[in-house]
Amino acid sequence: TVLAGAASLGLTLSACGKDSEGGSLDSTEGATVGVAMPTRSSERWLTDGKSVVEDLKARRYKTKLVYGDDDPKAQVSQIEKLIQQGVDALIIAAIDNRSLNGVLQQAAAADIPVISYDRLILGTKNVDYYVSFDNEMVGMIQAHYIVDKLGLEDGKGPFNIELFAGSPDDNNTKYFFDGSMTHLQRFLDNRQLVVRSGETELKQITTPRWDGPTAQRRMSDILGKWYRGERLDAVLSPYDGISRGVLSALKSAGYGSDIEPLPVITGQDAELESVKSIIAGQQSQTVYKDVRRLAEAATTMVDDILKDRVPYVDDSRSYKNGVKAVPAVLLQPTSVDKTNYDILVSDGYFTAAELK
Ligand code: BGC
Repeated sequence: TVLAGAASLGLTLSACGKDSEGGSLDSTEGATVGVAMPTRSSERWLTDGKSVVEDLKARRYKTKLVYGDDDPKAQVSQIEKLIQQGVDALIIAAIDNRSLNGVLQQAAAADIPVISYDRLILGTKNVDYYVSFDNEMVGMIQAHYIVDKLGLEDGKGPFNIELFAGSPDDNNTKYFFDGSMTHLQRFLDNRQLVVRSGETELKQITTPRWDGPTAQRRMSDILGKWYRGERLDAVLSPYDGISRGVLSALKSAGYGSDIEPLPVITGQDAELESVKSIIAGQQSQTVYKDVRRLAEAATTMVDDILKDRVPYVDDSRSYKNGVKAVPAVLLQPTSVDKTNYDILVSDGYFTAAELK
C-alpha cells in the first residue's frame, strides 16, 4: 500500500530517490494484487483467475486470488479482507455490479486502485478502469448468426424464436441483449421472427446467476405451453451454460432427431463442453473471448498504475457506470461454430486432444 499510495500521490520513485529507469530496483517489488473472481462454477472464470495470476507473477507481483461462489455478500467480505491484508491494487469481476459501493469506499480510503474486470461495477466513483470485451458486439454476433442461419435477410420465415438473457444484476446482460436486438428487432417487427411465449422484454427473459438449470426449466415450461405441435427454430442464448440447459430441455421434448432437428442455438465463452457440443452438431455457435488476453490487459493496466505510468485506454469507449464514465479497454470477440472451431486449437485455447 505504501507504493500504491505513493503512486496515487503522484510521487514517482525517482522522486523518492530511487532508480526507476532501468536500474536494478524494481519499483513494485513485493507489491501484492488482490484478484476477486465471481465463481468457480463456470470454466471461463477459472481460466481468468489462472491467467491473471500467471501474468502478475511473470511481472513479479504477489497475488491473492479469491472466488465468490456467486454470492454477492461473500464477495464483499472477501474484498474487505484483501483490503485489510494491505493489497496494492484490486482486480474485481463483480457478482452483483451494484453491491460493491461500500467496500470500494474502503479501497479508496486506503488508496488502492480498482480495475473492474469484464463486468462494469456500477454506482460508485471508486472504480478506476474497466477492461472487458466489446459486450454489445457479443450480442450482435449471436443475433447475426441466427439471422444468417435462418436466411432472414433473404426474406425466409416466419420462424419461431425464444430469447434468453443473462443475470439481471450483471451490467453485461443489458449490453448483450441490446446488441442482439439491434439485429433481431426488425425481424420481430415484420414477423419473420415470432416469439410464441410473448416474452421479449429483458426483465422477462433474464436468468439469475446465469444458471443453466434455471434456463432449462424456463425452456421446458415454454415448450410445454407454446410449442405443442409447433416447431421452435432458434434460441438466442447469451452464455454456453444457459445454452446447455436449453439443449437439455429441447432434447427432453424430442428435439435432436432426424425428423425434429435442434433449433439454431447461440452461446458465449467457448466452454469446452459447448465446443464439443458444437462439433457434435448440437449447440450451433458460441462467442469466443480469449480471456487470456483480457487477463493480460488487466495486469498491464495494474502494472502501469503501480509504476506510475498512464495506462493505455480506448478513448472512444468509456463506459458510464451511473456516477462516472470509466475509462475502458475493450477487446474484440469472435464467432465460433463447426466451420471454424479449429481457431481455438491454433490459438492454444484448447488442445486438439481436448476437443476429441
Ligand atoms: C461474462 C460472460 C459470461 C457470463 C456468465 C458475463 O459477465 O461477460 O463471458 O458468460 O458473465 O459467467
